[in-house]
This record gives sequence, C-alpha cells and structure tokens, in this order.
Amino acid sequence: MTKTVAKKAAAKKAVPAKTAKAAKEAAAKKAPAKKAPAKAAKTAQTAKVAKTTPVRPAKPAKPESHLSMVRRARRINRELADVYPYAHPELDFRNPFELLVATVLSAQTTDLRVNQTTPALFAAYPTPEDLAAADPEAVEQLIRPTGFFRAKTKSIMGLAAALRDDFGGNVPGRLEDLVKLPGVGRKTANVVLGNAFGVPGITVDTHFGRLVRRWKWTDEEDPVKVEAVVAEIFPKSEWTMLSHRVVFHGRRICHARKPACGACPIAPLCPAYGEGETDPEKARKLLKYEKGGFPGQRLSPPPDYPGLPAPPLAAG
Ligand code: SF4
Repeated sequence: MTKTVAKKAAAKKAVPAKTAKAAKEAAAKKAPAKKAPAKAAKTAQTAKVAKTTPVRPAKPAKPESHLSMVRRARRINRELADVYPYAHPELDFRNPFELLVATVLSAQTTDLRVNQTTPALFAAYPTPEDLAAADPEAVEQLIRPTGFFRAKTKSIMGLAAALRDDFGGNVPGRLEDLVKLPGVGRKTANVVLGNAFGVPGITVDTHFGRLVRRWKWTDEEDPVKVEAVVAEIFPKSEWTMLSHRVVFHGRRICHARKPACGACPIAPLCPAYGEGETDPEKARKLLKYEKGGFPGQRLSPPPDYPGLPAPPLAAG
C-alpha cells in the first residue's frame, strides 16, 4: 500500500468516530485540489486573529535600533548648531559669582525677569562678602520680581556666606563643592561649570527634558537619568553647547504646548512631528525671540547674537 492510499484509508476509517469538525477536516484531506484547503484554513485562522487582536497599521514602523537613534540624535545636534550658531546661556553675568546667583534666582521664572533684576542686586552687593553681610529685607525687595523672593533671599545669602567662609570668597569649580551650597542643585552646578569654568556639563531643565523625550532619545523623566543617557550619546566636548542649542530650540520653536512643527528645521528628524502646528504660515507666527523678530532675554547679549537685546525692567 502506497503512503497516499494508506492516508486516504485512515481518513475514511476515522470519520465516523470523530466530531463534525473532524469530519470537515477529513473531507478537506480527501479533496482533489491539494493546496486550496490549506490556504483556506490559513485565511480562516488569520481572520480569527484579526478579530481578537488590536488593529495595527498595515506596516508597523520598524523599531529604531539604538545605533540609529544615536546617529539621528547627533544629526539633530549638527542641524541645531547650524540653526543656532550663537546659542549661549541666556542669563547675564560678568563672573562665576553672578552666574551662580542668577541661576539660583532663575527657578520658577524666566531668564529675562532675572536679567532685569540682577543689575540692581549686583550694583548693591558685588561680592559674596557684600551679599552675605546684607540686610535680608533689602535683598528681598531687590529680588522680589523673580518670585519666591523670601526663599531665594535665604539661598543666595546662604551661598554667599558659604563662599566667604569655606572658599575664600570664590566660587568653587567642582561639582561636588557646588552642590553643597544652599539652593544649588545639579542643574545649577552644571550651568556654572559649563559657562563660567569651561567644564563640560549637560543642563537638564524643563525644555531639555521635554525635547529629548519628544526626540525619543530617552523616556526617562528624572533629570539625573536623562543627563546620564544623553552623556552616553555625545562626546563631552559637545555637552555644554548641546545644552544651549536644545534649550534655544525649546524656547523658540519646540514649545511645550504648541510646538511650531511647520516651521521647524529639524522636522524630518523628529518622531514627534505633528504634535504641534504643521501649517507653515500659522507655525511661523508661533516663533519667539530672534526667530520671531522679537528681543531676546539678555540685556547684554553676546556680540554674535542676531536678535535685539532685552529691555530693562522699567521699560519691560
Ligand atoms: S517637529 Fe515639532 S515636535 Fe519635533 S522638534 Fe520640531 S517643533 Fe518640536
């Protein structure tokens, strides 16, 4: 007996003892057309799966490999360097002490408001010794426009006293010393290190965190973890300027509520394109500072800044 004949005989024998479903299967085996039943069975199975699984795009996008993400991230950095060749810290300062105090004051307010406030503060108290010995109420009045002025007065007078007592009136150039000063966290320390001491640092503020998550460099929410992930993607030499470029982009184009996607030069590299306004005309109207033809945040911007200086407080 050949194998085919044996199969047919076995199928015949099995029919009476099985269920209707088994009978159907046996009938299918008997059918002369060899491939059709198999195909039909496959289609039926696919239909069943489609009914019970969620609807997916016909061709789901292939998940991006880590290497591709790193390449895309580095390309975004290069593009941003072309868009903002003049990126810089947006706090006015003339020395590390002024930058440290200005950065502490910038919590919960804009750099513009700080820049409009610090000229009078630093005119009255130009050194840590002066500020440490000040009348707290006088300091409170001077920094009032920055908000939370009582807590901020305590911080800046406390850090001025620590600089006077522990560091000979100088701002230390090491992260571990800076973070011990009152009101100084990792973000503030990195701002000071990167911009007053030339030590590479990644500054994860609200803009930086939002943008890198939109760009899928990371899903982390914790600034310290974001900093660690980004530090792995870029060489140290890029850290400070990358921070400025990303923050510039967040303030000018990729806003929190309504990003101006239709006017965004890095749109082709952005997985979040479409989260904001895509109409080019409408998007252009959302641009801020020099990109929208308005004054910047610094009263004394660097010479290469193409925008207008910010107005002083009285005029603001
Ligand atoms: S395309 Fe839109 S979401 Fe992406 S970076 Fe540009 S403005 Fe931001």
